[in-house]
Amino acid sequence: MKVTIFGTGYVGLVTGACLAEMGNHVVCVDIDAGKVARLKQGEIPIFEPGLEPIVKRNHESGQLDFTTDAALGISHGQVVFIAVGTPPDEDGSADLKYVLSVARTIGQHVDRYTVVVNKSTVPVGTADRVREAIADELAKRGASVEFDVVSNPEFLKEGDAVEDCLRPDRIVIGSSSERAVAVLRKLYAPFNRNHERTVVMDERSAELTKYAANAMLATKISFMNEIANIAERVGADVELVRQGIGSDPRIGYHFIYPGAGYGGSCFPKDVQALERTARSVGYDARLLGAVEAVNHDQKTKLFDLIARHFDGQLAGKTIALWGLAFKPNTDDMREASSRNLMEALWKAGAKVRAYDPEARTETHRIYGDRDDLVLCSGGYQALEGADVLAIVTEWKAFRSPDFNRIRGMLAEPAIFDGRNLYDPSAVEEAGLAYYGIGRGRSL
Ligand code: NAD
Repeated sequence: MKVTIFGTGYVGLVTGACLAEMGNHVVCVDIDAGKVARLKQGEIPIFEPGLEPIVKRNHESGQLDFTTDAALGISHGQVVFIAVGTPPDEDGSADLKYVLSVARTIGQHVDRYTVVVNKSTVPVGTADRVREAIADELAKRGASVEFDVVSNPEFLKEGDAVEDCLRPDRIVIGSSSERAVAVLRKLYAPFNRNHERTVVMDERSAELTKYAANAMLATKISFMNEIANIAERVGADVELVRQGIGSDPRIGYHFIYPGAGYGGSCFPKDVQALERTARSVGYDARLLGAVEAVNHDQKTKLFDLIARHFDGQLAGKTIALWGLAFKPNTDDMREASSRNLMEALWKAGAKVRAYDPEARTETHRIYGDRDDLVLCSGGYQALEGADVLAIVTEWKAFRSPDFNRIRGMLAEPAIFDGRNLYDPSAVEEAGLAYYGIGRGRSL
């Protein structure tokens, strides 16, 4: 099929590459001319495991192309995806300016039946607004063209995005048009070969499904952080509690890891946006407010532990940081807990020596050159001249370090384990002080 995708970010580029991989002809449109030029030269602007080979292969074979020319994109695709950003507005609700701008562009150029598919995460009712925006532009041109608007939320995870896209848990199609559903069923048929993964519903339910999924996952994290905060006050180890509850299949082991708070481009903004949606219809979503509040506090947790260790005297101290990305296997720094920690340390007069396998370039793009930040090319290099070590992202490479070597390099041997990666007694036996999250000994 001929497919066009607006937005070549984590969602748009991965979706475009995976649809091209299945034999579709895909054109990706982005307003960022620099990004499009890099993609055309086979350069992938983001780090996402497995993405580079499929983008290159399909670009070289002509299945996948990139352009800034929206009109060309719209004339190409019988299915046109919207996969642009929906960042938080000033009040926390989702800002739809990019989505609606694409919708208006579609209305300005569409000239035959087209299925417009919204993949961006958008508040309930956005499908109607997209439909209106396209219809308004058609009316301005005096044109009469048939089109359908479908809500098809995306559930891929950064770091596993290609795998998730090629083998999705479920494909949610929100549409009241049988014609559009039939087109999408055909497009997604290769992703459904072993068993049917498609769930068809109305647009509003599909839009809410995406927020409900992210809000549920964020709730699990905040719940576990709350248990961790209780655990450390009552002398219990939340890691044992986690194993004790995860073995119940109704609870399960997934997403019950306590830590330094959730970040990323989705959970913080989506929980906020859902809360604002609820408020706009007169419902006070108290649980969502609490999920956010717990996470907000959790993001200062590592700083509080470090500050307490140094009796609040952080000026002149150097903190080594392992992990900058908001989670492993990505270079994404949006709302990353490392940012809260670094910014608080800088404010207190401390310096940071940081290592991350993938996010150093992105960190440099955000913070530029500064005296109180050294971006290191290895974990042990980050320890040179440092007082203590803080673990912020649970990259696999950090799981079995040489504690003796760490102790030998740190001026005040202590590890602040923001992801509970280590066995406290193993760290202490090596002669380091250990601080974790909810491990009954942090107070
Ligand atoms: P992103 O910020 O990585 O990329 C968005 C892209 O859209 C940018 O390249 C930008 O230049 C482009 N763009 C903006 N306006 C445009 C226009 N008018 N025409 C063409 N391109 C335009 O965003 P993302 O992380 O891919 O997220 C996109 C949407 O998908 C968001 O709503 C997000 O909430 C949702 N989502 C993201 C993830 C994720 O893991 N990142 C997962 C599921 C859903």
